[in-house]
Amino acid sequence: CGIVGYLGKKNTKEILLDGLKELEYRGYDSAGIAVLQDEKFSNYKAVGKLVNLEEKTKDFKTDGFAVGIGHTRWATHGKPTELNAHPHLGEGSYVVHNGIIENYATLKKELQSSGVTFLSQTDTEVIVHQFEKNQKSAKNSFEAFSKTVSELHGAYAILLVTKSEPDTIFFAKHGSPMLIGVNEENEKYFASSDTPLIGHCQRVNYFEDGDYGYATSDEIAIFDKDGVQKEPKFSSLSQNK
Ligand code: GLU
Repeated sequence: CGIVGYLGKKNTKEILLDGLKELEYRGYDSAGIAVLQDEKFSNYKAVGKLVNLEEKTKDFKTDGFAVGIGHTRWATHGKPTELNAHPHLGEGSYVVHNGIIENYATLKKELQSSGVTFLSQTDTEVIVHQFEKNQKSAKNSFEAFSKTVSELHGAYAILLVTKSEPDTIFFAKHGSPMLIGVNEENEKYFASSDTPLIGHCQRVNYFEDGDYGYATSDEIAIFDKDGVQKEPKFSSLSQNK
């Protein structure tokens, strides 16, 4: 239902939790975050209100450069349980997703027959396993991510982080809203609506259907549905909530 992402040197945990709070009004049944810092992932999930997630993360500290993703879930596939809450884990990657992957059952069957174990009942979990399967044959993680996006049917806004590119957030959008915001400090903020970005970013780019790519501190690479790279179209973000 709601997505946030952050890449930078500020307090990643607070930024993700504050961002999710801004999206609370949309409704949700569970929430979670995953942060990759110093080559180590930390992941927290909780059913119910965000205060439950805050409680679970109260001893978790983020300090220095990190990449993080967060999600408030409105279940479509699989009950609202902690296991079904996002982010979903593969072997070394996490994904958050808004929307529905229409062909998840086919992908899941193929992955299961090649030995992949699924932990959740969600449609979303196929994304991270399909990505990691593709990583094995692709020349880099972006190639694996692009291939994965081309294999997904349905509506999605996706953020994915992986240990093999610890300074990068991968994104894809089709049918569910998502934007990226930037500022003078080279931070990158992602969200499914603009309110979490107010106060952090002056300029934002709303992704269009079919857009996918990646962001690092220095770079935002956006590709359209035909795989052609395009420039971000920045507009200024009104700072009024
Ligand atoms: N279809 C996904 C799920 O059920 C995402 C739902 C959402 O947009 O929150 O987990």
